[in-house]
Amino acid sequence: MITAIRGTHDILPGQIERWQFVERVAHQLCERYGYHEIRTPIIEREELFAKGTGETTDIVQKEMYSFTDKGGERVTLRPEATPSMVRAYVEHNLEQTLPSAKLYAIGPMFRYERPQKGRYRQFHQLDVEVFGLNDPAIDAEVIDLAWSLVTDLGIKRAELVINSVGCAACRPKFAAALLEALGTDLPKLCQDCQRRARTNPLRIYDCKVPADQPIIDRLPHSVDFLDESCATHFAGVKAHLDTFGIPWRVSHRLVRGLDYYTRTTFEILGAVASADDGSDAESLGAQNALLGGGRYDGLVKDLGGPDRPGIGFAAGLERLVLALPQELTIDPPAMACVAAIGDDGRPEALKLLRELRRGGIAAVMEFEARSLRAQMKRADRVKARVTVIVGGDELARGEVTLRNMSTGDQHAVPRASAVEAIRKALA
Ligand code: AMP
Repeated sequence: MITAIRGTHDILPGQIERWQFVERVAHQLCERYGYHEIRTPIIEREELFAKGTGETTDIVQKEMYSFTDKGGERVTLRPEATPSMVRAYVEHNLEQTLPSAKLYAIGPMFRYERPQKGRYRQFHQLDVEVFGLNDPAIDAEVIDLAWSLVTDLGIKRAELVINSVGCAACRPKFAAALLEALGTDLPKLCQDCQRRARTNPLRIYDCKVPADQPIIDRLPHSVDFLDESCATHFAGVKAHLDTFGIPWRVSHRLVRGLDYYTRTTFEILGAVASADDGSDAESLGAQNALLGGGRYDGLVKDLGGPDRPGIGFAAGLERLVLALPQELTIDPPAMACVAAIGDDGRPEALKLLRELRRGGIAAVMEFEARSLRAQMKRADRVKARVTVIVGGDELARGEVTLRNMSTGDQHAVPRASAVEAIRKALA
């Protein structure tokens, strides 16, 4: 048997309904907030991520699915959506062609990570991006959209954390202060932190190694190094969130793992709750970030575009699906089953089956089951709400029989108005 590749997974009937629910809510919300859907290729030039995601990130250094294609070109299965969104924005001059450059996309991403619950090698993200807007209100709008997604999905005990990492002008001062505060403690930190200290000291805050934590806890905070305009911007974001009534907490550790972030960063965490408080988020365990994002004011220019700011977030669909309330039930569409009495009833049954489907009604017929008994059994298995029995004396009289599958009640209706009668019975 050939099995699926480690870290990838099939989404099967029985699970897909929850996925479709999450995607439906995401599409509806994005449209309600005035965002346009965009679909970019899964495969891109490797350099897009090297430049966009950043050479020093774990993603680019360790996790990319990159290879040389048959034409000799270095290509990559996208590990995240933002660089592709920026590329498309610049390449198609969306600034000019769209009324507002507010975009969203849903699709698979690929990272060669160590698989565990909530962490996969092929996973899916909803990605939301806004280009060209500086006002802190847009930061708050994007966060509001993310927060509404989580709450509309019924996910309880979610927590919004925010931070500001400053801009190209003030961040270097913070990075220098970090290194200075580390001083002689630097050699005591893990190998990854030693590397981070050389490439991007802020990301020492991403460290999860327990022995490093007492040292990291003593380090300075980015918000204390913001210049005036970054501080004003951050105050604006917080004020707008308060106006929207969205609860937030500042986390000094939230620097996020990518190089391009400026000013606002945020995450929504699915709370890791105790088993007996009825929360479903506990199942996420260590991988408790449902979504994350922030501002990236230099990225569009870095990727060869005009000097335009950007802000966005990516939500992991696997984690949203895992965090859905357990009690959530998603009813399948009401379905009719058509059953034929004997071979004589078949042509008329087939005709009615097609009429139902053309009339917008979900309907099946179990072709392999011949006896009426066997067909009724199948109708039960596929959870049909109504079965229409076609053939025999009723058909000779110009009628068919409708059977309510939960009560067992049966009654005859004229063949000519059967579609409407079934539509009513399913409503
Ligand atoms: P990132 O693009 O790393 O900022 O991640 C944004 C969101 O994508 C995270 O909060 C997760 O929900 C999700 N995510 C990231 N990496 C993975 C992964 N390997 N497997 C599943 N979900 C992931």
